[in-house]
Amino acid sequence: MANGTGLAVAHADASKTKPSPRPLQIIRLGTAEENFSFHLEQANLDSIMAQVPSDMKVAVVSVVGAFRTGKSFLLTFLLRYLRYGSELDDSEDWMTAAGDLREGNINEKVLAGDDGRNALESSFQWRAGKERTTTGIWMWSEAFVRRVANGEEVAVLLMDTQGMFDNETSMNLTACIFGLSTLLSSYQIYNVQNRIQEDNLQHLALFSEYGRIALAGEAGKLVRQGKKQGDEGTDKGHEEKSEGGVEAEELMLPDEDEIPFQRVEFLVRDWMDFDEDLPFHQLKEEMDSYLQDVIEKGSVKDLRQTREQILGCFQKVRCFVLPHPGLEVPKKAYSGEVALINPFFRRLLNHYAREVFGPELEAKRIHKRDLTAPELRQYVSSYVEMFKS
Ligand code: GDP
Ligand code: MG
Repeated sequence: MANGTGLAVAHADASKTKPSPRPLQIIRLGTAEENFSFHLEQANLDSIMAQVPSDMKVAVVSVVGAFRTGKSFLLTFLLRYLRYGSELDDSEDWMTAAGDLREGNINEKVLAGDDGRNALESSFQWRAGKERTTTGIWMWSEAFVRRVANGEEVAVLLMDTQGMFDNETSMNLTACIFGLSTLLSSYQIYNVQNRIQEDNLQHLALFSEYGRIALAGEAGKLVRQGKKQGDEGTDKGHEEKSEGGVEAEELMLPDEDEIPFQRVEFLVRDWMDFDEDLPFHQLKEEMDSYLQDVIEKGSVKDLRQTREQILGCFQKVRCFVLPHPGLEVPKKAYSGEVALINPFFRRLLNHYAREVFGPELEAKRIHKRDLTAPELRQYVSSYVEMFKS
């Protein structure tokens, strides 16, 4: 029951003083001399968060996975759906509402730039190329307002993570990037190639464990800080027995059995085994039973542990499967023509975008508390600090 406007918050007060929409790096990875530590791009983060009304909750949709598996390409379409899609129909018009995609990060409409010149509206940089120089976590500069199942409006932020599993990034660093993006997102899309493999599951289990540990380590401190600032919070899950002191500290620590993260979704790319004639609901049933098979397959002890770990970290584990986008798309010469994308891919992508931003979308929740932009901003800063040490 999203509202169907897909309006960017930034559009509401678009003025000539605003830079054109673009992906902004919010977390940068340091050089080898800097010990690959994380660095917060505070000004970028602030400028994104400042667009969201301070009492509006935020949802963060993130895509992670190996590089060159079409993550940014997907995000470019999700962005288009947020801009041009409508729940009033189920058409694919939003995909072409602004013409073809453009190579690299230029595309779409011409907007008035802050310096008075015409600036090009950009998209996520979906063409691989300068991947290594852009390692880190990126967020789209605009927030989009959607109405979620409980009727509330939330601001949706899109996050792109780069530089994982690229043979140049150590496993530990990859785990940190993955863990950090899990901590910051309410909806984690784990992009995998062809099928869900055992090592995808193991990585997810291990990496979300990093996130879980970080969350446990930092949460109490953040909540105490909030209390000190007179922020009583909206957390109904905890009793308000006392202010400050040891007791409050103990109270605010996460419950042992609390599942810390909201949603992870395996997005399988280039799936071969499709009967294109089936109606969507049957395809969806096949996707669900595929995931069920994968989850239940683990009868050997350590396989089972991996699965239990994942289920213990995420409240919802889902799966969606996309077919190959067609032979033209991966080619060097391909420069974003939507008509060259396999129609079956487009059909499922249309369903997918509607699912991601549909009624199941939730605000980012930490310890049963839905976050506003200022709170998320504070968490991002704290988590980056924590991962530095
Ligand atoms: P990222 O590194 O994961 O962000 O990947 P990109 O989005 O930059 O895409 C890398 C390359 O894969 C580009 O040439 C895309 O055209 C192509 N691509 C995009 N989506 C898909 C897909 O679903 N399957 C395949 N095989 N290639 C894709
Ligand atoms: Mg990318």
